[in-house]
Amino acid sequence: VDAACAGARRWGVGSGASHLVSGHQTPHEALEQKLAAFTGFARALLFSTGYMANLGIVPALVGRGDAVFADKLNHASLIDAVQLSRADSQRYAHGDLAALERLLAASGARRKLILTDAVFSMDGDLAPLPGLLALAERFDAWLVVDDAHGFGVLGPQGRGSLAHFGLPAAERIIYMGTLGKAAGAAGAFVAAHESVVEWLLQRARTYIFTTGASPLIASALCASLEMIERGDARRTHLRQLSTQLRDGLAGTRWQLLPSPTAIQPVIIGDNFEALRVADALYERGLWVPAIRPPTVAKGSARLRVSLSAAHTAAQVGQLVDALKELA
Ligand SMILES: *Cc1c(COP(=O)(O)O)cnc(C)c1O
Repeated sequence: VDAACAGARRWGVGSGASHLVSGHQTPHEALEQKLAAFTGFARALLFSTGYMANLGIVPALVGRGDAVFADKLNHASLIDAVQLSRADSQRYAHGDLAALERLLAASGARRKLILTDAVFSMDGDLAPLPGLLALAERFDAWLVVDDAHGFGVLGPQGRGSLAHFGLPAAERIIYMGTLGKAAGAAGAFVAAHESVVEWLLQRARTYIFTTGASPLIASALCASLEMIERGDARRTHLRQLSTQLRDGLAGTRWQLLPSPTAIQPVIIGDNFEALRVADALYERGLWVPAIRPPTVAKGSARLRVSLSAAHTAAQVGQLVDALKELA
């Protein structure tokens, strides 16, 4: 909040124009440089939202006659981005490297792009990033990684899902992170090889044809990044809360998915039962949204528990007790 106020006083609330005209101000530039250094890539580019980043990246990289290979559980913004690109799209079963390998081997496309969430937003599980990168290298494909739920949370100093797996900032990875979730503000960025970022700056229409993000947000995000980097204690606390929840719910009739992240879905199955449980929790002061088809597969309605470092062990205990009673 202090950084946002100081940023607003110094640079104003609005950027006034698109980045390529005159809206790219000192805090935007500083933030892009910090994001590049933080993720280990040569360069980073700021977008107004994650949705816009994905809509910009994919059509800038592929078009008619090119091939996109997408995980079936990818976020809606990646699905829409593929449609917008007009590339030939093939979806592989969730996390299935063998299925992806078959599709890549059969493809004669000159340009190939693999698209994946790093942390799947309704299941909380991780994409097999090392295997995906190996396939991208073997079949001369690019790999776009959407780390909306990993950035700031996973990996040493919160550097994200690639760091979690110990993967380098490889040349064929296009790394996208959002800044409205763990970073606590709004916006998104793409980090990649210098020439890829220069290409996106020249070609991504959702970067070029929109007013630059607010400089006060960019100022706040510079402070967020420092907090993220120094936030190992918060991340440890968050992991402890996940363990507490999982241990606490073991043995109830509701199944937890094998999620190692802050997203911990409790699978209820039936839509109405999921709603009834969510309502009963709400009456007890616990707000846990029920997620139903078509957002998730039929018969897998769930409570999507999103843990935060701001939660306390007592609060998670309250949730476990309430769920046990309702089960
Ligand atoms: C939230 C989310 C987005 C969209 O980001 P916004 O900044 O909210 O537009 C994109 N991809 C994934 C996986 C997300 O969870």
